[in-house]
Amino acid sequence: MQSLKKLYKIGHGPSSSHTMGPGFAATYINQKHPSATHYNVTLFNSLALTGKGHLTDQVILDTFSPKPVRFIQAIDINKHPNYMVFEVFQGDTLLDSISVKSIGGGDILYDKEENEIIDVYQEKTFDEIKAYCTNKKVSLYDYVIEKESGDIQAFLKSIWEQMKKTVEKGLNTEGLLPGDLKVQRKAKTLFSRAKVNETDSQMQNRLVSAYAFAASEENGAGGIIVTAPTCGASGVLPAVLYYLYKDSKIEEKKIIESLAVAGVIGNVIKQNATISGAVGGCQAEVGSACSMTAAAMAYIEGMSLDEIEYAAEIAMEHHLGLTCDPIDGYVQIPCIERNAVAGIRAINAASLAGFLSDTRKISFDMIVNTMYQTGLDMHPKYKETAEAGMAFFYKTKK
Ligand code: SF4
Repeated sequence: MQSLKKLYKIGHGPSSSHTMGPGFAATYINQKHPSATHYNVTLFNSLALTGKGHLTDQVILDTFSPKPVRFIQAIDINKHPNYMVFEVFQGDTLLDSISVKSIGGGDILYDKEENEIIDVYQEKTFDEIKAYCTNKKVSLYDYVIEKESGDIQAFLKSIWEQMKKTVEKGLNTEGLLPGDLKVQRKAKTLFSRAKVNETDSQMQNRLVSAYAFAASEENGAGGIIVTAPTCGASGVLPAVLYYLYKDSKIEEKKIIESLAVAGVIGNVIKQNATISGAVGGCQAEVGSACSMTAAAMAYIEGMSLDEIEYAAEIAMEHHLGLTCDPIDGYVQIPCIERNAVAGIRAINAASLAGFLSDTRKISFDMIVNTMYQTGLDMHPKYKETAEAGMAFFYKTKK
């Protein structure tokens, strides 16, 4: 498995696979061919169907600006769901043709260029990690510190700082999100109504939801977020961690440590399954974020390795089969609300794990495999095409 630095990325929303990945590819091509005069960019499958709402064309245009780009949309089910071909021209001469897959979480794989993949973790599954930690008598956090390079703590601190900034910016911003849906931002209202005549659990629900809306609305607006593990699911982990920090007064050191634990869970899913909605549906994005968050919370609450695993497993188990059907291709409906619901669900998963881990029968590795197979079996139109589910019924209602 690769470093957590490849999992958590700070960048612009609204989509890690549809905005960040194409942006990284365009930046690379820009540097490789400074003499280019114009480009043809063919976007395949999910990128063709939802690229507009996910700002794929915009990030490519901005990166190549002022050089002109001609976009071509194509469907080819034999190609990866997020496939792109960049044809680079100098005058009438075709300088290069570069094919790229955007595989989720902002990661890209070139067909013919060199891909830098450095595994800093030799363990591949959670069972292997658990065996390592048990044998060495170390926690998941210690495991990360042992495997990563010296600056990982500073890196995780910078990730936490950005998560706080994103939530706080979202809480202080009102108005409409960009795009035709005219979605009203709701984080500030949710937050301001959280203080009147509520029980502790109502208050927790409201505050976690407000923080998740805040981060996800920032993402929907193309603001700066942290992939956790993706842009679309970037509200879940910050929401719960911000709640624990701000309202439960958990010390920041512990919160930063929990990012390492959540990162291990995200990495196991990324390595053995997928974190891309176009490959596995929303269970791979918001389900993964919920698993990471449940594990982080369990760690903060001082739970054992088994209980942390169980929290992550419960969180994923109850997202199985979740489709990706963003209306009009915008990462807004159902995405923003879904992040809030997943935040609450992560808290429930951690709480259940604390009570029931002795009786469990399902391992985290098994649920990750189940999620992946379910995603592969899912009809392609339910995987980030905006052609089915809510996206279809909304369109037909208009
Ligand atoms: S429905 Fe889920 S996977 Fe699809 S764009 Fe929204 S958050 Fe991402």
